[in-house]
Amino acid sequence: MNAYGTLYVVATPIGNLADLSQRAREVLCMVDWVAAEDTRHSGPLLKHVSSAAKLLPLHEHNEQQASPALIAALQSGKNIALISDAGTPAISDPGAVLVAQAHAAGVRVEPVPGANAAVCALSAAGLTNPGWLFYGFLPTRDAARLSVLEKLADLPWPLVFYEAPHRILASIAALYAGLGERRLVIARELTKRYESIHVLPLSEAEAWLVADGQRQKGEFVLVVSPAPPVVATETDELRRILQVLMEELPLKQAVHLATRLTGIKKNLCYDLALQLKA
Ligand code: SAM
Repeated sequence: MNAYGTLYVVATPIGNLADLSQRAREVLCMVDWVAAEDTRHSGPLLKHVSSAAKLLPLHEHNEQQASPALIAALQSGKNIALISDAGTPAISDPGAVLVAQAHAAGVRVEPVPGANAAVCALSAAGLTNPGWLFYGFLPTRDAARLSVLEKLADLPWPLVFYEAPHRILASIAALYAGLGERRLVIARELTKRYESIHVLPLSEAEAWLVADGQRQKGEFVLVVSPAPPVVATETDELRRILQVLMEELPLKQAVHLATRLTGIKKNLCYDLALQLKA
Protein backbone atom coordinates (compact mmCIF):
# COMPACT_ATOMS: atom_id res chain seq x y z
CA MET A 1 0.00 0.00 0.00
CA ASN A 2 1.33 3.45 -0.90
CA ALA A 3 0.36 6.71 0.78
CA TYR A 4 -0.91 8.20 -2.43
CA GLY A 5 -4.17 10.08 -2.50
CA THR A 6 -7.08 9.10 -4.74
CA LEU A 7 -8.31 10.73 -7.93
CA TYR A 8 -12.12 10.81 -7.75
CA VAL A 9 -13.90 11.22 -11.10
CA VAL A 10 -17.13 12.87 -10.01
CA ALA A 11 -20.24 13.24 -12.17
CA THR A 12 -22.22 16.42 -11.60
CA PRO A 13 -25.78 17.27 -12.73
CA ILE A 14 -26.61 18.09 -16.37
CA GLY A 15 -29.18 20.68 -15.36
CA ASN A 16 -31.03 19.69 -12.22
CA LEU A 17 -28.96 20.29 -9.09
CA ALA A 18 -31.02 17.72 -7.19
CA ASP A 19 -29.34 15.04 -9.34
CA LEU A 20 -26.04 15.51 -7.48
CA SER A 21 -25.59 12.28 -5.56
CA GLN A 22 -25.01 12.10 -1.83
CA ARG A 23 -21.67 10.42 -2.48
CA ALA A 24 -20.61 13.16 -4.90
CA ARG A 25 -21.37 15.74 -2.19
CA GLU A 26 -19.33 13.84 0.37
CA VAL A 27 -16.37 13.45 -1.97
CA LEU A 28 -16.42 17.12 -3.03
CA CYS A 29 -16.31 18.09 0.66
CA MET A 30 -13.66 15.55 1.65
CA VAL A 31 -11.04 16.16 -1.07
CA ASP A 32 -8.19 18.68 -0.84
CA TRP A 33 -8.49 19.92 -4.39
CA VAL A 34 -11.13 19.96 -7.10
CA ALA A 35 -9.87 20.07 -10.69
CA ALA A 36 -12.67 21.72 -12.68
CA GLU A 37 -13.20 22.44 -16.37
CA ASP A 38 -14.27 25.99 -15.57
CA THR A 39 -13.57 27.21 -12.05
CA ARG A 40 -16.05 30.10 -12.36
CA HIS A 41 -18.79 27.68 -13.41
CA SER A 42 -18.02 25.16 -10.64
CA GLY A 43 -17.49 27.68 -7.82
CA PRO A 44 -21.24 27.91 -7.06
CA LEU A 45 -21.52 24.10 -7.01
CA LEU A 46 -18.79 23.82 -4.36
CA LYS A 47 -20.44 26.60 -2.39
CA HIS A 48 -23.78 24.79 -2.68
CA VAL A 49 -22.31 21.67 -1.02
CA SER A 50 -20.22 23.74 1.42
CA SER A 51 -16.94 22.37 0.13
CA ALA A 52 -13.78 24.20 1.14
CA ALA A 53 -11.64 22.37 -1.44
CA LYS A 54 -9.26 24.44 -3.53
CA LEU A 55 -10.48 24.83 -7.13
CA LEU A 56 -7.98 24.39 -9.95
CA PRO A 57 -8.58 24.68 -13.70
CA LEU A 58 -8.30 21.57 -15.86
CA HIS A 59 -9.70 22.09 -19.34
CA GLU A 60 -9.00 20.90 -22.87
CA HIS A 61 -6.38 23.63 -23.45
CA ASN A 62 -4.25 23.00 -20.34
CA GLU A 63 -4.89 19.34 -19.52
CA GLN A 64 -1.56 18.09 -20.88
CA GLN A 65 0.49 20.74 -19.06
CA ALA A 66 -1.53 20.81 -15.82
CA SER A 67 -1.85 17.06 -15.25
CA PRO A 68 1.73 16.28 -14.07
CA ALA A 69 1.42 18.73 -11.15
CA LEU A 70 -1.87 17.12 -10.14
CA ILE A 71 -0.29 13.65 -10.33
CA ALA A 72 2.58 14.86 -8.13
CA ALA A 73 0.06 16.20 -5.61
CA LEU A 74 -1.82 12.88 -5.64
CA GLN A 75 1.47 11.04 -5.06
CA SER A 76 2.19 13.31 -2.11
CA GLY A 77 -1.08 12.16 -0.53
CA LYS A 78 -3.59 14.78 -1.63
CA ASN A 79 -7.07 13.62 -2.64
CA ILE A 80 -8.40 15.28 -5.78
CA ALA A 81 -11.85 15.33 -7.38
CA LEU A 82 -12.12 15.81 -11.13
CA ILE A 83 -15.32 17.45 -12.37
CA SER A 84 -16.48 18.96 -15.65
CA ASP A 85 -19.05 21.67 -16.29
CA ALA A 86 -21.87 19.15 -16.42
CA GLY A 87 -22.30 15.38 -16.40
CA THR A 88 -19.57 12.80 -16.34
CA PRO A 89 -15.95 13.95 -16.82
CA ALA A 90 -14.04 12.50 -19.79
CA ILE A 91 -17.26 11.84 -21.74
CA SER A 92 -17.03 14.46 -24.53
CA ASP A 93 -15.30 16.48 -21.82
CA PRO A 94 -11.75 16.86 -20.51
CA GLY A 95 -10.39 14.45 -17.94
CA ALA A 96 -9.14 11.37 -19.82
CA VAL A 97 -5.54 12.65 -19.98
CA LEU A 98 -5.36 13.14 -16.21
CA VAL A 99 -7.04 9.78 -15.57
CA ALA A 100 -4.61 7.97 -17.91
CA GLN A 101 -1.64 9.63 -16.19
CA ALA A 102 -3.01 8.63 -12.78
CA HIS A 103 -3.22 4.99 -13.85
CA ALA A 104 0.30 5.16 -15.26
CA ALA A 105 1.58 6.67 -12.00
CA GLY A 106 -0.04 4.00 -9.83
CA VAL A 107 -2.61 6.43 -8.40
CA ARG A 108 -6.01 4.98 -7.49
CA VAL A 109 -8.83 6.27 -9.71
CA GLU A 110 -12.32 6.10 -8.23
CA PRO A 111 -15.37 7.00 -10.31
CA VAL A 112 -18.35 8.57 -8.57
CA PRO A 113 -21.14 7.96 -11.10
CA GLY A 114 -24.06 10.23 -11.80
CA ALA A 115 -25.63 12.20 -14.61
CA ASN A 116 -24.67 11.68 -18.25
CA ALA A 117 -26.71 13.23 -21.05
CA ALA A 118 -26.34 10.26 -23.43
CA VAL A 119 -27.52 7.66 -20.93
CA CYS A 120 -30.27 9.98 -19.74
CA ALA A 121 -31.56 10.34 -23.33
CA LEU A 122 -31.25 6.61 -24.04
CA SER A 123 -33.26 5.75 -20.95
CA ALA A 124 -36.15 7.79 -22.35
CA ALA A 125 -35.72 6.88 -26.03
CA GLY A 126 -37.80 3.71 -26.02
CA LEU A 127 -35.25 1.55 -27.81
CA THR A 128 -35.39 -2.20 -27.51
CA ASN A 129 -31.96 -2.77 -29.10
CA PRO A 130 -29.57 -4.40 -26.65
CA GLY A 131 -26.61 -2.22 -27.68
CA TRP A 132 -25.91 1.33 -28.85
CA LEU A 133 -23.01 3.37 -30.08
CA PHE A 134 -22.12 6.66 -28.45
CA TYR A 135 -20.41 8.94 -30.95
CA GLY A 136 -20.61 12.32 -29.21
CA PHE A 137 -20.07 15.45 -31.31
CA LEU A 138 -19.91 15.03 -35.08
CA PRO A 139 -17.16 16.98 -36.87
CA THR A 140 -18.24 20.50 -37.79
CA ARG A 141 -16.79 20.51 -41.32
CA ASP A 142 -19.19 19.14 -43.95
CA ALA A 143 -16.75 16.73 -45.61
CA ALA A 144 -15.45 15.29 -42.34
CA ARG A 145 -18.99 14.91 -40.99
CA LEU A 146 -20.14 13.07 -44.10
CA SER A 147 -17.14 10.78 -43.99
CA VAL A 148 -17.94 9.84 -40.36
CA LEU A 149 -21.60 9.24 -41.22
CA GLU A 150 -20.59 6.97 -44.12
CA LYS A 151 -18.70 4.81 -41.61
CA LEU A 152 -21.66 4.74 -39.23
CA ALA A 153 -24.42 4.19 -41.81
CA ASP A 154 -24.43 0.39 -41.86
CA LEU A 155 -23.87 -0.25 -38.17
CA PRO A 156 -26.66 -2.29 -36.62
CA TRP A 157 -26.85 -0.19 -33.42
CA PRO A 158 -28.66 3.00 -32.45
CA LEU A 159 -26.30 5.98 -32.73
CA VAL A 160 -26.06 8.64 -30.04
CA PHE A 161 -24.84 12.15 -30.84
CA TYR A 162 -24.33 15.33 -28.86
CA GLU A 163 -25.12 18.64 -30.50
CA ALA A 164 -25.09 22.32 -29.65
CA PRO A 165 -27.97 24.65 -30.60
CA HIS A 166 -26.10 26.61 -33.27
CA ARG A 167 -25.32 23.44 -35.20
CA ILE A 168 -28.52 21.45 -34.72
CA LEU A 169 -30.06 22.25 -38.11
CA ALA A 170 -26.84 21.53 -40.03
CA SER A 171 -26.36 18.26 -38.16
CA ILE A 172 -29.93 17.11 -38.75
CA ALA A 173 -29.54 17.81 -42.49
CA ALA A 174 -26.22 15.92 -42.55
CA LEU A 175 -27.70 12.96 -40.63
CA TYR A 176 -30.53 12.63 -43.15
CA ALA A 177 -28.16 12.99 -46.11
CA GLY A 178 -25.72 10.44 -44.68
CA LEU A 179 -28.03 7.88 -43.09
CA GLY A 180 -31.34 8.15 -44.93
CA GLU A 181 -34.69 7.62 -43.23
CA ARG A 182 -34.48 6.58 -39.57
CA ARG A 183 -36.39 6.92 -36.33
CA LEU A 184 -34.99 9.90 -34.45
CA VAL A 185 -35.28 10.94 -30.83
CA ILE A 186 -34.49 14.59 -30.14
CA ALA A 187 -33.79 14.94 -26.42
CA ARG A 188 -33.39 18.59 -25.49
CA GLU A 189 -32.62 20.33 -22.21
CA LEU A 190 -32.76 17.10 -20.23
CA THR A 191 -33.56 17.48 -16.54
CA LYS A 192 -34.13 21.21 -17.06
CA ARG A 193 -37.26 23.37 -17.06
CA TYR A 194 -37.86 23.18 -20.82
CA GLU A 195 -36.96 19.52 -21.21
CA SER A 196 -38.43 17.97 -24.34
CA ILE A 197 -38.15 14.48 -25.79
CA HIS A 198 -39.61 14.18 -29.25
CA VAL A 199 -39.74 11.10 -31.49
CA LEU A 200 -40.14 11.52 -35.26
CA PRO A 201 -38.84 10.31 -38.62
CA LEU A 202 -35.44 11.85 -39.45
CA SER A 203 -36.89 13.18 -42.73
CA GLU A 204 -39.33 15.36 -40.76
CA ALA A 205 -36.88 16.67 -38.16
CA GLU A 206 -35.69 19.78 -39.99
CA ALA A 207 -39.26 21.02 -40.62
CA TRP A 208 -40.19 20.25 -37.01
CA LEU A 209 -37.25 22.26 -35.66
CA VAL A 210 -37.88 25.18 -38.03
CA ALA A 211 -41.60 25.31 -37.20
CA ASP A 212 -40.82 26.72 -33.73
CA GLY A 213 -37.55 28.55 -32.98
CA GLN A 214 -37.73 27.42 -29.32
CA ARG A 215 -37.14 23.85 -30.51
CA GLN A 216 -33.63 24.80 -31.68
CA LYS A 217 -32.60 26.22 -28.30
CA GLY A 218 -30.67 24.46 -25.56
CA GLU A 219 -28.56 21.33 -25.48
CA PHE A 220 -29.32 18.27 -27.55
CA VAL A 221 -28.84 14.53 -27.56
CA LEU A 222 -29.86 12.87 -30.82
CA VAL A 223 -30.62 9.16 -30.80
CA VAL A 224 -30.84 7.67 -34.29
CA SER A 225 -32.22 4.16 -34.78
CA PRO A 226 -30.21 1.66 -36.84
CA ALA A 227 -30.67 1.11 -40.55
CA PRO A 228 -33.95 -0.66 -41.30
CA PRO A 229 -33.71 -4.44 -41.77
CA VAL A 230 -33.35 -5.96 -45.22
CA VAL A 231 -36.44 -5.27 -47.36
CA ALA A 232 -38.74 -8.01 -48.64
CA THR A 233 -37.53 -7.92 -52.26
CA GLU A 234 -33.94 -8.50 -51.09
CA THR A 235 -35.12 -11.41 -48.96
CA ASP A 236 -36.93 -12.93 -51.96
CA GLU A 237 -33.75 -12.68 -54.04
CA LEU A 238 -31.68 -14.18 -51.21
CA ARG A 239 -34.16 -17.06 -50.86
CA ARG A 240 -33.90 -17.81 -54.60
CA ILE A 241 -30.07 -17.76 -54.53
CA LEU A 242 -29.90 -19.91 -51.41
CA GLN A 243 -32.29 -22.48 -52.87
CA VAL A 244 -30.09 -22.91 -55.96
CA LEU A 245 -26.85 -23.05 -53.97
CA MET A 246 -28.22 -25.46 -51.37
CA GLU A 247 -29.17 -27.93 -54.09
CA GLU A 248 -25.48 -28.25 -54.98
CA LEU A 249 -23.54 -27.34 -51.83
CA PRO A 250 -23.44 -27.96 -48.08
CA LEU A 251 -25.34 -25.33 -46.05
CA LYS A 252 -22.26 -23.55 -44.72
CA GLN A 253 -20.75 -23.09 -48.14
CA ALA A 254 -24.09 -22.00 -49.63
CA VAL A 255 -24.44 -19.36 -46.91
CA HIS A 256 -20.89 -18.17 -47.51
CA LEU A 257 -21.49 -17.74 -51.24
CA ALA A 258 -24.94 -16.17 -50.78
CA THR A 259 -23.41 -13.60 -48.41
CA ARG A 260 -20.79 -12.73 -51.00
CA LEU A 261 -23.27 -12.60 -53.86
CA THR A 262 -25.94 -10.47 -52.15
CA GLY A 263 -23.97 -8.44 -49.59
CA ILE A 264 -26.66 -9.36 -47.04
CA LYS A 265 -25.35 -10.02 -43.53
CA LYS A 266 -24.15 -13.56 -42.86
CA ASN A 267 -26.40 -14.20 -39.87
CA LEU A 268 -29.49 -13.27 -41.94
CA CYS A 269 -28.39 -15.61 -44.76
CA TYR A 270 -27.76 -18.35 -42.22
CA ASP A 271 -31.16 -17.94 -40.55
CA LEU A 272 -32.93 -18.10 -43.92
CA ALA A 273 -30.87 -21.12 -45.00
CA LEU A 274 -31.91 -22.95 -41.83
CA GLN A 275 -35.55 -22.09 -42.50
CA LEU A 276 -35.26 -23.42 -46.07
CA LYS A 277 -33.62 -26.60 -44.88
CA ALA A 278 -36.29 -27.31 -42.24
N1 SAM B 1 -19.84 15.12 -19.97
C1 SAM B 1 -21.19 15.42 -20.36
C2 SAM B 1 -22.06 14.18 -20.12
O1 SAM B 1 -21.69 13.33 -19.31
O2 SAM B 1 -23.13 14.08 -20.71
C3 SAM B 1 -21.25 15.94 -21.78
C4 SAM B 1 -20.49 17.21 -21.97
S1 SAM B 1 -20.53 17.80 -23.61
C5 SAM B 1 -19.31 19.06 -23.54
C6 SAM B 1 -21.96 18.79 -23.64
C7 SAM B 1 -23.04 18.20 -24.55
O3 SAM B 1 -23.76 17.19 -23.85
C8 SAM B 1 -24.09 19.22 -24.99
O4 SAM B 1 -23.69 19.95 -26.13
C9 SAM B 1 -25.27 18.32 -25.29
O5 SAM B 1 -25.12 17.70 -26.54
C10 SAM B 1 -25.12 17.26 -24.20
N2 SAM B 1 -25.86 17.67 -23.01
C11 SAM B 1 -25.36 18.09 -21.83
N3 SAM B 1 -26.36 18.41 -20.98
C12 SAM B 1 -27.52 18.17 -21.65
C13 SAM B 1 -28.89 18.30 -21.31
N4 SAM B 1 -29.28 18.75 -20.11
N5 SAM B 1 -29.81 17.95 -22.24
C14 SAM B 1 -29.44 17.51 -23.46
N6 SAM B 1 -28.15 17.37 -23.82
C15 SAM B 1 -27.21 17.70 -22.92
